[in-house]
Amino acid sequence: SAEGLENDHDFPEGALVSVLTTQPIDRFLDYKAPEGGCSIGSFVEVPLGPRKTLGVVWGKGDGKFDPSKIRKISRVLDVAPMGQDMRDFLTRAAEYTITPLTQMLRLATRAPGLSDPLSMQKIYRLGDGVPDRMTPARTRVIETLQEYGGLGFTLGEVANLAGVSTSVVKGLVKFGTVLELDTPRDGPFPTLQAGFGAVELTEDQSSAAEELRKSVATADYESFLLKGVTGSGKTEVYMEAIAECLRKGRQALVLLPEIALTAEFLSRVEKRFGARPAEWHSGVTMTERRRVWRMVGEGNAQLVVGARSALYLPFRDLGLIVVDEEHDTSYKQDDGVLYSARDMSVLRATYCGATVILASATPSLETWANAEAGKYRRLDLESRFGEAQLPDLKAIDMRSEQLPSARWISPTLTAAVKARVDAGEQALLFINRRGYAPTTLCRACGVQIGCEQCDARMVEHRFLKRLVCHQCGETKPMPTACPSCEVEGKLAPIGPGVERLAEEVAELFPDVRVAVLSSDLFGSARALKEQITSIAEGGADIIIGTQLVAKGHNFPNLTLVGVIDADLGLQGSDLRAAERSFQLMRQVSGRAGRSEKKGVALLQTYQPEHPVIRAILSGDEEAFWQAEAQERQAAGVPPYGRMAGIVLSSPDVQAVFDLGADMARRDAPLRKIGAQVFGPAPAPIARIRGRHRVRLLVKAEKSVPLQRALSEWAAQFKIPTNLRLSIDIDPQNF
Ligand code: ADP
Ligand code: ZN
Repeated sequence: SAEGLENDHDFPEGALVSVLTTQPIDRFLDYKAPEGGCSIGSFVEVPLGPRKTLGVVWGKGDGKFDPSKIRKISRVLDVAPMGQDMRDFLTRAAEYTITPLTQMLRLATRAPGLSDPLSMQKIYRLGDGVPDRMTPARTRVIETLQEYGGLGFTLGEVANLAGVSTSVVKGLVKFGTVLELDTPRDGPFPTLQAGFGAVELTEDQSSAAEELRKSVATADYESFLLKGVTGSGKTEVYMEAIAECLRKGRQALVLLPEIALTAEFLSRVEKRFGARPAEWHSGVTMTERRRVWRMVGEGNAQLVVGARSALYLPFRDLGLIVVDEEHDTSYKQDDGVLYSARDMSVLRATYCGATVILASATPSLETWANAEAGKYRRLDLESRFGEAQLPDLKAIDMRSEQLPSARWISPTLTAAVKARVDAGEQALLFINRRGYAPTTLCRACGVQIGCEQCDARMVEHRFLKRLVCHQCGETKPMPTACPSCEVEGKLAPIGPGVERLAEEVAELFPDVRVAVLSSDLFGSARALKEQITSIAEGGADIIIGTQLVAKGHNFPNLTLVGVIDADLGLQGSDLRAAERSFQLMRQVSGRAGRSEKKGVALLQTYQPEHPVIRAILSGDEEAFWQAEAQERQAAGVPPYGRMAGIVLSSPDVQAVFDLGADMARRDAPLRKIGAQVFGPAPAPIARIRGRHRVRLLVKAEKSVPLQRALSEWAAQFKIPTNLRLSIDIDPQNF
């Protein structure tokens, strides 16, 4: 329109603009603004060759091309333009991770139906009409709609979630039990009220909350480490930061490491703010994702709770990012664009003037070091809320326990579990291994069944009656004969997995109710959530779980944690093994005694003198971190030095080693900045899905421009078509 013209962010019809598309072309493309014009940040559809593609108007066109050849933008999408802060963030994130900007834009536009025009649709909600009779299918529909409350679902989605045919849902509409509503496809989210359901904080909590509140109020970037044992009230405290953000009219984002944790968190938000927030993760339906994406862009979603990819949502005015359980390794994306959601949160926040809260009982060494260095402010919650006390930690020295072969629960642990169960309390047995047994051995020829595609063993999953490769996901029926020597009946499980432990528990405690929590055993996030709720309500006496139970679930009646193999994480050769093991053991132990009953954690170990085991038992975290920090400092690795992992993969083993050797030789761009190259060596997993993997590690001083040197270095080599090169800045394993 005519008035808009003096604004150089607005482009009238025919003006030259530069568009970033989501196609893998490594540059901006010039287009002419369409009828009605467009503005900077507009999401647009542009012709590219014979097709149309999605893009964002990034700036003025540079006029380098023949104007007569420049095509017109097909149309401007009916969504809010992308803000300057988001464009800057994507640009910097692309540089940091050495990823083409177009690929970053793809991360930011993963919304289904983004280019569909807005339209009306029928959605289905619970009404209060009473049907003529109830059937199991009808009950499922009602329960499903009850559970998902305010969200609207399409007919297909309701039917799917409830596991019924669409006619069952339609049938209920007749009675007004289910309402059929015509709504615009993408309505705003219900309003959260900052003052609703506020709780009274303890003195400790409220001084932490006050610091956070002040920071959010300034609308400047600032990062916090919010540290406190599980149960100390970290969540209650950061809810106050969210409340302040709501009062300021800015948006907040909470990242959780595990979808299974969202349900509990959503109901806490509802209690605290009177309505449910927007959700963003792989379990959210397409319809809902589309709505979230749009509403976030328009500022009509005040709070988003989600997985790491929520960081790339086009927030209109993001004022707060919470990364809960910030140490969790699932925040590192290890496929496609390799990024750490924790680091990216901090980066994003610097561009939009947001506060970042990294919450954890056991922070990563990186975050701890950043707090030590004064880059993040550290807030400590010293004790558990209310009567809850920290559990006592004790080792069970397995060298002096009498155990028959193929048994893993020591007599000492058995007695302790029995005592708790007899007292009407719950016990948790933790083992960090999925499936029945980690190894299947042929007793005739000695072969261990491996995956054909990977350098990994196949793991027996008795519940599924299959062998599963935990690397590539390949499964096959459990054979009766050895695949190698073909002798029948000689295959034997070696070592314990969570399913095998469940068998042992069933023998030791034939009369108690046992629940097994392992991600393989649940078809859906919902089934898992149901199991967790049932356990929390006392539906089991003994819980057997994998890593899944270490994360955040609250079982008030759980007073004993038994760690079956505390030594398991200590064997890794990489420098992070100790840190991970320390964190995991502390997280798991922290599950015990979350209410007024005091808990105890017993760690079965063959190495009670190991420094990590001793640090866990003594509870002296600061000493542990200091020691770890010194070790990393001496080795010049993150967070004290910079590091990149370059993985070359190809079906052709010779090709990866040849290129790796060539890269190690021609390292001038790296030497220029004083960086060193190590390798090539087989990657930690040397073959996945039939591709051989070789890794080079690059180490540099903290202050050098590592990314630029890496790009220059990598650009020297011609990469054969079947070979993939990926660069991982700050790799998890080193
Ligand atoms: P964390 O996030 O550190 O594990 P939570 O915030 O989940 O801790 O708090 C643990 C439990 O104690 C929760 O059930 C929470 O509602 C309760 N709680 C913590 N602080 C308070 C408080 N000030 N008032 C009431 N309940 C609290
Ligand atoms: Zn495999």
